[in-house]
Amino acid sequence: NPGKNSYHPLKDSTWKMGENVPYMALAKTLELIEETSSRLKMIEILANYFRSVFLLSPNDLLCSVYLCLNQLAPAYIGLELGVGEGIIIKAIAQATGRTADKVKADVSAKGDVGLVAEASKSTQRTLSMFRPAILTVNSVFTKLTEVAVMTGNSSQTKKVDKIHGLLVAAKQLEARFIARSLAGKLRIGLAEQSLLQALAFAASATPPNQPSPPTQLNCFQGLSTEAIKAKVETAAVILKTAYCQCPSYDRIIPVLLREGIAALPLHCTLTPGVPLKPMLACPTRGVGEVLQKFESTKFTCEWKYDGERAQIHLLENGEVRIYSRNQENNTSKYPDIISRFQSWIAPSASVRSAIIDSEAVAWDTEKKTILPFQILSTRKRKDAVEADIKVQVCVFAFDLLFINGESLVEMPLIERRQKLWNSFHRVGGQFDFATSRDPQSIEEIEEFLDESLKGNCEGLMVKGLVKDATYEIAKRSKNWLKLKKDYLEGVGDTIDAVVIGGYLGRGKRTGLYGGFLLACYDENNEDYQSLCKIGTGFSDEDFQTHSDFLKNHIIQKPKPYYRFDQTLSPDHWFEPVQVWEIKCADLSISPVHRAAVGIIDPVKGISLRFPRFIRIRPDKNPENATSAEQIADLYKSQDQIKNRKIEEEEEG
Ligand code: ATP
Repeated sequence: NPGKNSYHPLKDSTWKMGENVPYMALAKTLELIEETSSRLKMIEILANYFRSVFLLSPNDLLCSVYLCLNQLAPAYIGLELGVGEGIIIKAIAQATGRTADKVKADVSAKGDVGLVAEASKSTQRTLSMFRPAILTVNSVFTKLTEVAVMTGNSSQTKKVDKIHGLLVAAKQLEARFIARSLAGKLRIGLAEQSLLQALAFAASATPPNQPSPPTQLNCFQGLSTEAIKAKVETAAVILKTAYCQCPSYDRIIPVLLREGIAALPLHCTLTPGVPLKPMLACPTRGVGEVLQKFESTKFTCEWKYDGERAQIHLLENGEVRIYSRNQENNTSKYPDIISRFQSWIAPSASVRSAIIDSEAVAWDTEKKTILPFQILSTRKRKDAVEADIKVQVCVFAFDLLFINGESLVEMPLIERRQKLWNSFHRVGGQFDFATSRDPQSIEEIEEFLDESLKGNCEGLMVKGLVKDATYEIAKRSKNWLKLKKDYLEGVGDTIDAVVIGGYLGRGKRTGLYGGFLLACYDENNEDYQSLCKIGTGFSDEDFQTHSDFLKNHIIQKPKPYYRFDQTLSPDHWFEPVQVWEIKCADLSISPVHRAAVGIIDPVKGISLRFPRFIRIRPDKNPENATSAEQIADLYKSQDQIKNRKIEEEEEG
């Protein structure tokens, strides 16, 4: 199909100004993106699509953005799109006149329900004399939402009917993406960061209230690669900043359409009820490094609690909500926190609205001590009833980001902390402030670290107090350092890796996986890079659990965005769906693994030596796994330590 690569919605589609966007325009855009591996090219394709929507059908921009992300609403609303594969198979069979068994066999052979839906449409017998109406982005979005909200006894049949209707109306390519949307993954390798860049660029190239539509078709026309990069970055900074503070396209898109990208900082700021992406910490390998970093600036050390991050929002209407590290709504998991929250406000304070950053930790009410994370993870994840709760939690607050209509994120920690202390008060076993101390010497830090470990914490968080002390939303910042007990054992931190492949076990592990291929995530290239093989640290039960879970995520071929050496090819490849916490002895340059390739060595990657499984990280998405840059940093800091040791030995 020679014209395919040059498809442009404004030029090549019959879609007219004021009409709804034909779904085919989006499907063709997604297809082009799927076929390219260059990130800049993906951004260009998507920016051109968004620009067309800005110009012709601005009312469809919001649903276009959601469909590209395979979402129906902001992530924190928790409206899941995925339906079971069985339902999609049934609907494909009904819509195309094939048998469900045949469709099912094709899906297992191809490993992609989208391609099967597309192929089934191409061989479809004509079942109706009437041509169904053209699908639009808006109508598909509406139908998918209707499918997602259906619950109850007969919902399965109703879902099949709805999907059947969509697939009957769909053309081949449309069927591919509708089926994939329903299965929960578009499989086009487009990360949200790229979408934000494309949207930013399209918005700045198409400002609102222009007298007549610009004639230039392509956002990037006539620009050099360097110029494109620079322009994309500049526009993206504004949009990404707004998105960090207010991660809701429901709020951002209307501002883009009404007033343009420059107005975002005015309208899309911190809002109680809209969870923000939290600030994260960098690992350190020792107390010496801490003192080096904060050499001439004031810093504070806090206990690093091992529970679950809880962003607690008090809305103006008195409602209290709790969001996780990944902005999921955890409110129904913690009815106990909700019912107690008002009693934590200091009697002398007037608090109408607030956002607190804290850790919810399992609490032994008899011994009045902190319990390990594993105990907390036994709590019901949703719709808990307060009277049935067996594991009590205590909230340890460490930051205040918003109070009474005012955002505090630009203030230094010393002031935020004071406001936190003034506005709330300790309630034994329910609410406390993170234990903190502002030590001066190595000895004092070591002593406090020791105390934190005795108090059942993971170690310390070390934070700038006055200088370099703002709350950096969504950032893993060097102004927050974590000092964990693990640093004593070697690497400075555990590593969170994504499972991308499995090796079949032998002997007593026949029928299960006996080893796995792990990867880190490279945010810049948006790919998964192999990091190590792992077969240690698992109990028999772990092997069984992992095998049961992962066999539902097998794919026939590795993703185009998996980086690995052929010699490591596993027996089965998996979708990137789960993150594991791993310990290792050290990191070394590897001729076969690809982690952080190009950062430390131009062609070689880094791998973990003697990796050991610790636990699953259900609170992390694959894209939150340890990044290639973090792996390179861990490798480098280990090198500095080694070099320092050698120097000391030589001097000594
Ligand atoms: P890990 O939890 O494995 O260290 P992570 O990537 O989840 O890694 P980090 O940024 O590495 O998060 O560490 C910060 C986490 O530690 C926070 O997300 C929070 O849940 C927890 N935490 C516990 N005590 C504190 C504290 N006093 N200040 C900030 N974060 C704390």
